[in-house]
Amino acid sequence: MGNAAEIYGKVYVLRLGHRPSRDKRVSTHVGLVARAFGANGFILAPICDESVVRSLRRVLEEWGGEMLLECTDNPLSYATQWRRSGGEIIHLTMYGLPVDNVIDTIRMSPRPKLIIVGAEKVPGQYYELADYNVSIGRQPHSEIAALALFLDRLYKGLELYLEHENRCLEIVPSPGGKKVVEIGGGSNAADDRADVRP
Ligand code: SAM
Repeated sequence: MGNAAEIYGKVYVLRLGHRPSRDKRVSTHVGLVARAFGANGFILAPICDESVVRSLRRVLEEWGGEMLLECTDNPLSYATQWRRSGGEIIHLTMYGLPVDNVIDTIRMSPRPKLIIVGAEKVPGQYYELADYNVSIGRQPHSEIAALALFLDRLYKGLELYLEHENRCLEIVPSPGGKKVVEIGGGSNAADDRADVRP
């Protein structure tokens, strides 16, 4: 699979409504899914939570990949600007159109994609601004699950085979235990490491 930059230029994820007091873990996981499943940008809004950004940066350093990490305190202006500059906006919401109805059109469009996922209630302006309001099933669930499934549909499952560049660590699939290879530093022997998971 070509990476997001090769296919669309940008596939960014805008995590809207982050509340540091309660969303640290979920927002970090949204960022982890974005990176692991083929996005190349993660925008946290409206509060810049350094602990989330730090965790994601650490994973990028160890496990590789190119992903822009940014914050904005004005996500509506960010999204508006995204459209003005030729990108399209996909807002994931249980109220939207079923993903299977729109994913082929979205996949075929070469426009940069901004995928918006909320935390609390998403203001109506985003529904109007979006090119697509997309539902992943018709039940309320989770921004992490919604993003993972959307990216999986977008890339037709190939995101699971992404090779992240500049990685220091690589997992060797194993039927039991944890096998991790360190790349570029010291021995390349696979060993058991319990402490390398994000
Ligand atoms: N009422 C929300 C909605 O519009 O989907 C559910 C809130 S949920 C706690 C937080 C975020 O998860 C939502 O903003 C949305 O991005 C995502 N989400 C939850 N369920 C979803 C679904 N069935 N389809 C798409 N996105 C969903």
